[in-house]
Amino acid sequence: MPYDGDIIRPPSEADSIIIQVTVGCSHNKCTFCGAYRDKKFRLRSDEEILNNIAFAARYCGRQKRVFLADGDALILSQKRLLHIFSLIKEHLPQVRRIALYGNAKAIRSKTVEQLQELKKLGLHRIYMGLESGDDEVLQRVQKGETGNSMIEAARLVRDAEIFLSVTVLLGLGGVAGSLQHARESARVLSLMQPRQIAALCLMPLANTPLGHSFDSGEFELPSAEGMLHELKELIQNITCRRVMFMANHASNYLPLQGVLLRDRSMLIDKVNLALQGKENLVPEHFRGL
Ligand code: SF4
Repeated sequence: MPYDGDIIRPPSEADSIIIQVTVGCSHNKCTFCGAYRDKKFRLRSDEEILNNIAFAARYCGRQKRVFLADGDALILSQKRLLHIFSLIKEHLPQVRRIALYGNAKAIRSKTVEQLQELKKLGLHRIYMGLESGDDEVLQRVQKGETGNSMIEAARLVRDAEIFLSVTVLLGLGGVAGSLQHARESARVLSLMQPRQIAALCLMPLANTPLGHSFDSGEFELPSAEGMLHELKELIQNITCRRVMFMANHASNYLPLQGVLLRDRSMLIDKVNLALQGKENLVPEHFRGL
């Protein structure tokens, strides 16, 4: 498939056809994020997008899901998105579900009616990065959002009845702010009421400002044990119901998955066992992003 640069997609989109509609991320300022540092943000041309769709029509006839890359495909104008969704319908009639990354600003640029319009054409899932619910942390990492602005974005997605998956980044509060980061993230997530929460562990990257702060000792990353305490605090304080909670990304020390609130005790028991050394942790060299 003719893409511009490397493509990043959520693990759960491994079987999806990837159609790249933007290059990079329109924000591209988060100090921990190395995903699109080398990419200047731009919208792909109709010709480039049609090339991806034509390739998929020829070679991906069995795949029933599409993921629109890159970082925040939802930032495209409604007119452009409707055009792309119509092209997918026309050329890939087997496709049942379309998913994309949408940062909070991109989501807020749409009305509930516009999101519903996209849903009718196949938009099934939006992946959004909360990273932290703690405004101090969000400001420090230059997320460009607050807990409240992300709660508002989540409300729009919920009102449009689209599946919302939200990512939180354990360790982002550093050692000193670890538990506050967990509690505030749990509070904001509880108000966002997503359908799925993915808790990843921060791994400072050499090509990012946060990576430099980590190397210089200015930013102190919680240890594996500290991350487990943070994970436990997060799980204990989430109050929304019927949400899939996943901490089974390659970056996690202790792979966990369950439905909150139903499985809360089971998840906490597992974390406690790990803290007592009775559950194996993923070795450092097996962890990855
Ligand atoms: S974390 Fe998301 S919003 Fe921030 S720079 Fe990376 S892709 Fe863009």
